[in-house]
Amino acid sequence: MADLHNNGKSTGFVATMGALHPGHLSLIEQAKQHNDVVICSIFVNPTQFTDPSDLEKYPRPIEKDTQMLADAGCDILFNPPVNEMYAAHEHWHLELGEIEHLLEGKFRPGHYQGVTQVVYKLFNIIKPNTAYFGQKDFQQVMVISKMVELMNLPVKIVMCPILREDDGLAMSSRNIHLTADDRQHALVLSKALQWVKDKFAADKIEELQAEAAKMIGNEPGVELEYFEIADSNNLHPANQHTKNPVVLVAARVGKTRLIDNILID
Ligand code: AMP
Repeated sequence: MADLHNNGKSTGFVATMGALHPGHLSLIEQAKQHNDVVICSIFVNPTQFTDPSDLEKYPRPIEKDTQMLADAGCDILFNPPVNEMYAAHEHWHLELGEIEHLLEGKFRPGHYQGVTQVVYKLFNIIKPNTAYFGQKDFQQVMVISKMVELMNLPVKIVMCPILREDDGLAMSSRNIHLTADDRQHALVLSKALQWVKDKFAADKIEELQAEAAKMIGNEPGVELEYFEIADSNNLHPANQHTKNPVVLVAARVGKTRLIDNILID
């Protein structure tokens, strides 16, 4: 990596856990457009999983992924083994403030400590000029931006839009676990988000939130964790005066946990 920087090449970085899909490739595409060299990591990071069975069953099709990255024009793949990234009994804590404990943080305690731990290491090894993250994990982008600010890291963070299937389902590596029935029921998530966005100007926030939560709760096989209309600057509940709201949802569909969100501008 030092050679790249010494040669004055700009580097764009995309961190992934593999099982790549067009959503990941859209980040690679952004990185390619704005940098001389594109680096992608594939690392299923154990410290960010709160459920051991989720970690165990996380898909790892490395040969297919490698081919997809080559086809997409990615220059360097970083695919380290776990023992290269972590020493035994390593400890990490970064004081992230309340953002760590809201929404995803509430349902996945410790998740953002694991995320910042691995992304800090990846930034340290790769030293990218710019790193591209998906809006799909909206709170994650906020947390990483906060880490960059707290630690004065010389990395620019760019958030890229969510890629969806034609019927609206947000692309995700976890969609592979959905049965055909789950796949149909999962559509209620993006539908509820879009419904709130369409109605936002006309209706009261509390009513929209309650109605959308009911819509999701009534869908068979779907167990809602949260549905929140929030201020995109701090994820506090939005009110009528909030300038840039974001609507965020997390639910279990069958055995699979899915998240999605939509910005209202
Ligand atoms: P993951 O492999 O799930 O850790 O995701 C790696 C990166 O891809 C993260 O920055 C995600 O937010 C992003 N990503 C995942 N799904 C999508 C999607 N449907 N559209 C755009 N970016 C995505």
